[in-house]
Amino acid sequence: MDRPPVVTPRHRTFRAALRWGAALALVALSAFVGHQLSQQTGLARMREAAEHRLDMIATGLDAELTRFDYLPALLEMTPVVPALLRSPGDPALSDAANRYLAGVNATTRAEMLYVLDAGGTSLAASDWDQPGTTVGQHFAFRPYMIDALAHGRGRFYGVGITSRRPGYYLSYALRREQAAPGVVTVKINLEDNESAWRKLPGDLVVVDQRGVIILSTRDDLKFRPLLPMDALQRAEVLRARPYGTAPLEPLQWQRVEALAPGVDLLRIDGADKLGTTRTLRHAPWQLIALDDMGALRVGARNAAVTAALGMVALLLLGVTLWQRRLAERQKLANQAALQAAHDSLESMVVARTAQLHAAQDELVQAGKMAALGQMSAGLAHELNQPLTAMRTLSESAAILLDHRRDDDVRGNLKRIRDMVDRLARLTAQLKTFSHKQQLQRVPVVLAGAIAEAQVIVAGAQQKYGVQVEIDLDPPQLAVMADEAALGSVLVNLMRNAIEAMEEAPQRLLRLEGRLHGDGRALLTVSDTGPGIRDDVVPHLFEPFVTTKPAGSGLGLGLMLCAQLVRAMDGDLQAGNRAGGGAYFAVELPAAGLE
Ligand code: ADP
Repeated sequence: MDRPPVVTPRHRTFRAALRWGAALALVALSAFVGHQLSQQTGLARMREAAEHRLDMIATGLDAELTRFDYLPALLEMTPVVPALLRSPGDPALSDAANRYLAGVNATTRAEMLYVLDAGGTSLAASDWDQPGTTVGQHFAFRPYMIDALAHGRGRFYGVGITSRRPGYYLSYALRREQAAPGVVTVKINLEDNESAWRKLPGDLVVVDQRGVIILSTRDDLKFRPLLPMDALQRAEVLRARPYGTAPLEPLQWQRVEALAPGVDLLRIDGADKLGTTRTLRHAPWQLIALDDMGALRVGARNAAVTAALGMVALLLLGVTLWQRRLAERQKLANQAALQAAHDSLESMVVARTAQLHAAQDELVQAGKMAALGQMSAGLAHELNQPLTAMRTLSESAAILLDHRRDDDVRGNLKRIRDMVDRLARLTAQLKTFSHKQQLQRVPVVLAGAIAEAQVIVAGAQQKYGVQVEIDLDPPQLAVMADEAALGSVLVNLMRNAIEAMEEAPQRLLRLEGRLHGDGRALLTVSDTGPGIRDDVVPHLFEPFVTTKPAGSGLGLGLMLCAQLVRAMDGDLQAGNRAGGGAYFAVELPAAGLE
């Protein structure tokens, strides 16, 4: 059975954790790679610089150390030196030798130059006239003496016994004169070299054959052994006193890692250094360039941070792009969903509209039927009154016939005929609903029209006990109108007024006719009834608007009136009077008076 893959919240957190983990791993990896790369390149650059520096310094130092190799030959060939060795006590010889040595010393720019006899006693020296001169002193214990006598030449670095200044002692045996051998010693001051090295970057130390630093750009390292000395070495140092009174406190010198032959990572007194070692050619010493790893470490750390930040930026960019793609996809999905919703809504609207139309059709049909019913009821009501009047007239005519009152019978018949005419006219009026009928425009005297209408509403008027007041000024006031239409309007307005006053305490129907200066006449029909209902006022002239019970009101009367008046170039207005009751104002063109 196929099931869709279930993604539970736990799956989700697991996946999120996985993603975070991968991102962190990437950041860590780039930090590591950045660190390593920076360290490697930094180290390589540092090594190269150190090698270069060492090349320079070693060449200089080697040159300095071989500069005096010609001295023994020079002194052997100078007669005064062998002469002095032969007769050491001769003051004239020693004076001449002293002056000669001083001259040579000044030329070679050595620190000191002196000649010793085979026993190690200084016979003559360049500093013979200085206080603390070596002349007359014994140096037999000095290794360079021993070496020179044994091997022809000796080398010794040490602090001067009388001068207390460190220097390099080069000694050469004077062998030509076998009878009286001697040794010439030149002391070179290497402090100038040392101070020149201080101007170079990094530190530099020179370590002698015992592993003691004898030259250093750092004062605190001077005369300190790299490793604690053993008993033999200590005894030798005690004997030769090469380091003067220095306490010889061992350094914490630790080789952490050998990077290449002669290149080591060192830890000296707790500080990490890159040590590059070079062996001198003309002295049993080692030159060690010491470079601080601190800057390298900082650089590597910065590189790591930069790489990590770069990776973070890359990841953020990736996430942003990914999210944008997701959002794009989401947007498309939303659009599709929206479109689907829109489509279904549209079809629903179409269906509903169809239903609505059907319902509306039914409603219209029902409305038509209701209108028809109302109209029929209204028509019956309209017809009923003249029919009742006609019945009364014909009954009284029969009685009048019995009494042979022929004239009265004729009068009744005439009135019946008038009623029939009126009914015919009413039917004609109804036709105005269906099609427009051309109305006549003839002068109609208002007094006559009102009297005719009064006859029709007489029954109702008597029934409700309504008093009628007619005020026409001028009395012969006439309007241009269709007589039947005007009659219909008057009957309608008067009957409405009478019926409105059915329950009124005072029942007065007033008809007032006035002539306006602009050739128009105004007939106002007013009553003392309750007035037109507020909700009816705005719809008064619309069809089927009625407050009367079904069967008794058609709601067509006022609409018909308004149409007829308008068709006669007139205007019908209605409203409630300030003192109570309603008024209807019919305005029509006035007819010229004969
Ligand atoms: P119908 O008389 O069949 O109701 P009309 O169009 O003649 O139809 O009148 C519409 C409505 O106007 C009446 O139902 C009534 O509420 C109101 N109306 C007409 N004349 C008066 C009046 N004189 N006083 C108060 N209300 C009136």
